[in-house]
Amino acid sequence: MIIVLHRTSDGLWPLVLRLLPIRERRKHVDQNAEALPRRVQPPHGEVILEAKNVTRRFGGLTANNNMSLQVKAGEIVALIGPNGAGKSTMFNQLSGVDTPTSGAVLFRGKPVTGLSSRTIAALGMSRTFQHVKLLPRMSVLENVAIGAHRRGVKGVLSAAWRLDRKEEARLLREAALQIERVGLNEHLHAEAGSLALGQQRILEIARALCSDPCLLLLDEPAAGLRLKEKQALAELLKRLRSEGMAVLIVEHDMDFVMNLVDHVVVMEFGEKIAEGLPEAVQNDPVVLEAYLGGV
Ligand code: ADP
Ligand code: MG
Repeated sequence: MIIVLHRTSDGLWPLVLRLLPIRERRKHVDQNAEALPRRVQPPHGEVILEAKNVTRRFGGLTANNNMSLQVKAGEIVALIGPNGAGKSTMFNQLSGVDTPTSGAVLFRGKPVTGLSSRTIAALGMSRTFQHVKLLPRMSVLENVAIGAHRRGVKGVLSAAWRLDRKEEARLLREAALQIERVGLNEHLHAEAGSLALGQQRILEIARALCSDPCLLLLDEPAAGLRLKEKQALAELLKRLRSEGMAVLIVEHDMDFVMNLVDHVVVMEFGEKIAEGLPEAVQNDPVVLEAYLGGV
């Protein structure tokens, strides 16, 4: 046992693989696979996400208090605020990861409060989390393809008997398309864990795009990125916006937000303290107070 723990901390299978003439086969992208159906995107400027008086309490702590906000198609909205303001909690209420104590969330005009996150994702809302969640030993292509799994119809049994090859080819082709869309083409077959942090974040966006969303929720996608990586991310988000995508982004970095977004919502202690155009919010004394502790 001690030798195994010392020599092959990943278990015995990698050892066996090295001894046997089994090659790990790369997933192949079949350019002729039938494209997946796309959803009809909402018209530019239509309100697609609306939170009405959302409140979430954890015992005695009110993480979100009476929060209301709107996101329109083809618009980037930023949710900003100091650490612990309740931004991630708000994202969880919007995306069905958590259920509000009171209040309502409407997505494309339909109430989605209390629906599961899978159901909401199927309606066209896709999100990333504050911390990168990847399968580091699998390729970029495979990681991104996971985001398309809801668009497949075959179940576990047909997968076990490999009766789902046509469908797999369609999902992989969709993944390859989204990887190209975000500009990670040259890393298609690289291990996801070998990418730089900035590229991993972009990979996560590609995975989110695989569910064919009309709204992306991104929780601090620029955190920990270098300047060049931030610029690449901002370019990508602008490109998605020009294609009609709506984006709601949680962000810490004021400079990053101000040059990118159309509308800003500022939170502190679980409440909305200001909202409006980036320039107006930036000079709002209430916001400066929250960020800098007064001027
Ligand atoms: P932000 O993302 O703005 O930094 P969060 O939404 O993560 O802030 O957290 C807001 C507050 O809610 C914090 O005080 C946090 O400790 C609390 N909180 C978040 N999730 C939970 C939970 N599941 N249970 C209890 N408290 C929570
Ligand atoms: Mg957070």
